[in-house]
Amino acid sequence: MQRLTGKEVAAAIMADTKERAEKLAAAGKTPCLAVFRVGERPDDVAYEASIKRHCERAAVECRLVTLPADVAQQDFAAKLQAAAADPTVHGMFFFSPLPKNLDEDALRALIPVEKDVDCLAEASAAAVFCGSEGFAPCTPSAVMEMLRYYQVPLSGRRAVVLGRSMVVGKPLAMLLLAADATVTVCHSRSQDLPALCREADIVLAAVGRPRLVQGEWLSSDQVVLDVGVNADPENPGKICGDVDFAAAEGIVAAASPVPGGVGLVTTAVLCRHVVEAAERQ
Ligand code: NAP
Repeated sequence: MQRLTGKEVAAAIMADTKERAEKLAAAGKTPCLAVFRVGERPDDVAYEASIKRHCERAAVECRLVTLPADVAQQDFAAKLQAAAADPTVHGMFFFSPLPKNLDEDALRALIPVEKDVDCLAEASAAAVFCGSEGFAPCTPSAVMEMLRYYQVPLSGRRAVVLGRSMVVGKPLAMLLLAADATVTVCHSRSQDLPALCREADIVLAAVGRPRLVQGEWLSSDQVVLDVGVNADPENPGKICGDVDFAAAEGIVAAASPVPGGVGLVTTAVLCRHVVEAAERQ
């Protein structure tokens, strides 16, 4: 079985992104991402550090804005509006979910589509669904980058997407559809998931359930992409995917591991989106 690792995919994206960012900088436009963090959630702080590191490596400026957990709606809104109006900021992003006292949908709506590099606003999602210009969320984009890098044919092939969230499942289904795959989207009420999965050419798992996809859900010649990031119930302190990778290894043609798969590509895609946004603006 071929292991579809994310490291080389991320490296290729980062190299291309850096080259394009340097070209823009030479012309007087350094691509810039404004990152807003509310509060001190450890996951957000860790992701922020990763974004900062990636931006440095890709020659993208990263402006970090940290706000207290009890920030007032109008204060956060004013910061977002300022970045939206600032021509030196090309991409905007905030960590989600926000504290409950904030109206997250209203704040998302303040990010203009052309700067919405992780598809936070509804208008950006509409653009992805309509096939018009806008950025898809970074995680489903990372899955598409993995499929492209490993030259997995999509046209006319049956793809089963497990999960229908607005962060992964639904936009991923739209991107696969745009690439001419025949797409089935499954969720917690879907009947006989093992049979649906076995019939697919490509299985894409984004449910957030450790090792939900067992060996008997899979068949030979399949390509399996695992988006899941779960605390591993069998190995405390470790993470695992939505697919039983050890079982998949003996059955399918190719599969992405967790960790070491799609997750490594997401932040590289974020950097690329910022550079693309700067190129367009
Ligand atoms: P989510 O919002 O919780 O959505 C999970 C989806 O899976 C829902 O559509 C749910 O169905 C479906 N589902 C849950 N249990 C199921 C089951 N037993 N059978 C079939 N479908 C089931 O999660 P998410 O934000 O999309 O994230 C999914 C996974 O991807 C998580 O492990 C998350 O950590 C990971 N993730 C990774 C990255 C990355 O690598 N950078 C980024 C984002 C997310 P219903 O709609 O019916 O409830």
